[in-house]
Amino acid sequence: MKIIDAHLHFSANEHFKQTAYKAGHLDSLEHLAGVFHEQNIVLGIGMGVDGKENNSKVSKPLTVNFGTEQPPNFLVQCLGIDTATITKENSEASVAAFKKKLEEQNVVGLKVYAGYQHFHVNDPVYHPFYELAEANNIPVVIHTGDTANSAGLLKFSHPLTVDEVAVNFPRVRFVMAHYGNPWIIDATEVAKKNPNVYIDLSGLAEGKFQVDWFYDTYKGYIEQMKTWLTYLSRYDKIMYGSDWPLVNMATYIEVVQRLIPEQYHQAVFYDNATHVFPRINMLLK
Ligand SMILES: [Zn+2]
Repeated sequence: MKIIDAHLHFSANEHFKQTAYKAGHLDSLEHLAGVFHEQNIVLGIGMGVDGKENNSKVSKPLTVNFGTEQPPNFLVQCLGIDTATITKENSEASVAAFKKKLEEQNVVGLKVYAGYQHFHVNDPVYHPFYELAEANNIPVVIHTGDTANSAGLLKFSHPLTVDEVAVNFPRVRFVMAHYGNPWIIDATEVAKKNPNVYIDLSGLAEGKFQVDWFYDTYKGYIEQMKTWLTYLSRYDKIMYGSDWPLVNMATYIEVVQRLIPEQYHQAVFYDNATHVFPRINMLLK
């Protein structure tokens, strides 16, 4: 089975090295290419976190730091919005910088770091970016649920916050990253109610472990996800994603394979990403 990893991170920096090591990986493009080959992952969608620039004139898109001049052909990226540096004065220039970057073939979506950025996802600061997403037929991936550090504010990353923005921008596809974990029920309802809301299953576990051990130890957690995925019964809205380097790739693929009924594997591991991120179709040819 060919796989598209709809949510991962790559950055040639020290912090990533340590996280990758804990998951049994190395933080290098060569290593990642090898893992992709082994697992039959044909494309990864990276979330841009690098390139923060304190410049009052423009808030530049956050990008994936590939550490090479030419981006690799097996990774594409979503441009991160650094909300904290967007002002009334530089908003127009910032949107223009995103628009320019969108000319590059490997840019396939936008990323909102809700919770990490202390803004409601429906804050007017984001509106021109959602309009840009709509005009370019690219999705907006929103971080939902728990934040990786305590500086995050959960009131901004709760999946229910996606409801309002989904209603206000009905022609933009929004992806709730991490299934809103641990607010799985709330995320389920937001995806059920809104035709333009999708879910990625990245980041629901971390490190390297035995899958049997995980299923045994976190039985209730797994049952809850199975329950609400069945309740939702919209496997056309669910995408595989790893959140690499957080988790071991082979381990996590097995975790999700066991979570999703087999008849939906093709949709969840591959097809749905091609609908949510239409720009990747050009690259998959
Ligand atoms: Zn992530």
